[in-house]
Amino acid sequence: MTGNHRGHGTRLQVNPIACDGVGICGHLAPELVSFDSWGFPVVSARALVGRDLRSANAAVAACPRRALFLSARVPARPSASGRPSPGRPSPGPR
Ligand code: SF4
Repeated sequence: MTGNHRGHGTRLQVNPIACDGVGICGHLAPELVSFDSWGFPVVSARALVGRDLRSANAAVAACPRRALFLSARVPARPSASGRPSPGRPSPGPR
């Protein structure tokens, strides 16, 4: 995988329950979508800008199952050191 996959920015995501594996997304955004051995899409986790974002929008619009979508990742919370934590967000208060 190439590119930055952490931090905030718009990302392409797929709902595997809704996807039927037809593959239109891979034709419209081949730089962002590959396929697993069953023919289902595996999408890039990198933040999308410029041409990548335009390709992702085209793939989202063309998906017949509305299984593709764009999401904006929330920036990681600062850790005790003041730097953003690269790990998963904490589960919050219990
Ligand atoms: S176009 Fe939509 S339904 Fe088809 S493989 Fe891609 S995500 Fe799945």
